[in-house]
Amino acid sequence: MDEQMNYGSDYKYIPATSIGSGTGVEVLPDLFSYTVQIVNIHLIGNLKTKEFVLVDAGMPNSAEQIISVIESRFGTNSRPKAIILTHGHFDHVGAVIELVKHWEVPVYAHELEMPFLVGQKSYPEPDPTVEGGMVAKMSPMFPNEPINLGKSVIPLPSDGSVPHMTGFKWIHTPGHTPGHVSLFRENDRALIVGDAFVTVKQEYLYKVLTQKQEISGPPRYLTTDWKAAKESVMKLEALKPTVALTGHGLPMSGELLTESLEKLVKHFDEIAKPDYGRYVN
Ligand SMILES: [Zn+2]
Ligand SMILES: [Zn+2]
Repeated sequence: MDEQMNYGSDYKYIPATSIGSGTGVEVLPDLFSYTVQIVNIHLIGNLKTKEFVLVDAGMPNSAEQIISVIESRFGTNSRPKAIILTHGHFDHVGAVIELVKHWEVPVYAHELEMPFLVGQKSYPEPDPTVEGGMVAKMSPMFPNEPINLGKSVIPLPSDGSVPHMTGFKWIHTPGHTPGHVSLFRENDRALIVGDAFVTVKQEYLYKVLTQKQEISGPPRYLTTDWKAAKESVMKLEALKPTVALTGHGLPMSGELLTESLEKLVKHFDEIAKPDYGRYVN
């Protein structure tokens, strides 16, 4: 295993939580979402064969919690076949190094996300001045430096398949980050969104706390390309997903999802795009 792995020097525990923290939802028999403080991880796979993958890797210092969630669902000493990252923001890679060391499994991410995962490039600074609430204002304390996963991180296959996730295809959904991906399974139209859109207004602390369900664009303080973000939402809406597991907020399904996505596409500039901020023009 790669001994060169390290987090950025600004890596730290972030004291933020929601009422969903520490709870899990079985959305479908093989799709399980679990909330670590303010972000979701997903366990995709079969309870009988115990073959599964972990999508995203939670908040800083959450490795023990993630391991125990996995062992209580799949059995003692069970481990995923791989970790798939929707993108490399700190709240999606928070425990990834400890998990890779513990399980010795590969991590997959989009090619354009690699510089942020091998210690080459920092994400643009979060924008605390963006239109939005307390979480946006807290964002300067979020770790921003790239982590270095060394040889443990591998680009997703260029044919669109997702390793160890039969039936799923990855879809490039940039805007929130350059190499952001969502994962889609055609046969039941299940969608793992990442942060391309979310079901809670992530900028606002009281909404994060209560997890009030409300469709929104990607978290504002970290989104830098609003044109691409809008196109990504349009791409996902066109897939007509029946269920969506997002990086933040509760899973959404059925008519509520269809209508919410239509509304988000139609009124993207009003709902998602901030009126002011560093990355809006
Ligand atoms: Zn993000
Ligand atoms: Zn996120």
